[in-house]
Amino acid sequence: MNAPVDAVLHDVLVPRALLRDEAGFGGTFAGDCLRGDLLILEGRARALQPGTPGETPRIVLPALTEAHCHLDKCHTIARLGPVGGDLMAAIAAQREDKANWSEEDLSRRARIGLTEAQAAGCTVVRTHVDWGDTAEAPLNWSVLTGLARETAGLTLQCAALNGIDQHAEDDFCDRVARCVARDSGVLGAFVLGHERLQDGLTAMIRAADKYGLALDFHVDEGLRDYNGLETICDALISAQFEGPVLCGHAVSLIDRHGDDLARILDKLVRARISVCALPTTNLYLQDRRDGTPDRRGLTRLRELENAGVPVVVGSDNVADAFCPVGRHDPMAALHLATLTGHLDPPMGRWLRSVTVDATASLGLDPVFVDGAAADALRLSTAPDLAGLVAGRAPLFKLTDVLRETVQ
Ligand SMILES: [Zn+2]
Repeated sequence: MNAPVDAVLHDVLVPRALLRDEAGFGGTFAGDCLRGDLLILEGRARALQPGTPGETPRIVLPALTEAHCHLDKCHTIARLGPVGGDLMAAIAAQREDKANWSEEDLSRRARIGLTEAQAAGCTVVRTHVDWGDTAEAPLNWSVLTGLARETAGLTLQCAALNGIDQHAEDDFCDRVARCVARDSGVLGAFVLGHERLQDGLTAMIRAADKYGLALDFHVDEGLRDYNGLETICDALISAQFEGPVLCGHAVSLIDRHGDDLARILDKLVRARISVCALPTTNLYLQDRRDGTPDRRGLTRLRELENAGVPVVVGSDNVADAFCPVGRHDPMAALHLATLTGHLDPPMGRWLRSVTVDATASLGLDPVFVDGAAADALRLSTAPDLAGLVAGRAPLFKLTDVLRETVQ
């Protein structure tokens, strides 16, 4: 990257929640940030020094992590014809579109998605990849794992997505897991009131242990009386599975209350599960009715956070049958979660959901600002953290800014 080895960036704000050692970094308190001149030594952020505050400090934060998207489905909306309906209608519409999934088509659309994610400030992306009916790796898996190998400046994780009942069948799960491990992928499943959930979980945990894989679940994506989440917790606790495990959606948790909710939250902590809220797709597909919905398709963000469950926010579907709008931008997803989940300022702790907590939930080392390499950091001219979440200013690469200001 040819980043300057040593530099000083005048008058910046660093969110305190994105520092590993807040007390040792220097700077002065400015709300939920520290303020000062950022010292870069040997290409790494080392300290905030006293400086002369200007009128508009700039915000420095880690690059973003997109923890949950679907690069094989994205950007198909223009050819789908009329869509609209619930989750099952979206699944059916997208299944029909698979007839168009050639190598060229998949690669072209996925590259558009990755370009969007990188422009939004991401250096890590996990995409789910529909697996299909047989245990052999499908074309979309080869295309996306191929992209993962060749995409510079970005870590792309591919998570195989099967129905959990498939994993319950004979050696299906083991055969998929072997392919997934060969391509450094993640083992995933769709869980929505399936009959063979328990058997599927047993097979997945066994395979994940055997091949050293992370697990990822689409779980309880519905405003109905689902509780696959607790069954997943029980299975992981009883197997003493080490993780990492990310559970996406968990929409039906919104209908759990009191002791019932407290019990599930406690199990999530003990099972060391991170929960990924996916507001765009859930708000678009849940509570479908003839008129305007009056319920929110959203998991219990605030209760999870208060209970100590790492909360992650992702973009999920983009311009496809599940979500005709949206974009690959976790900060935009966090903006939507802020409005729909009433995530109040100070916003620093919620920024963890698209940075450090998101990265750790994928089994990767989180990047905190203190000690981070300059090319793992981003800079924004937004006036404060709420403005940052609102997307009031784009994220620039810190290395680009340093090139212009190096002394
Ligand atoms: Zn998804």
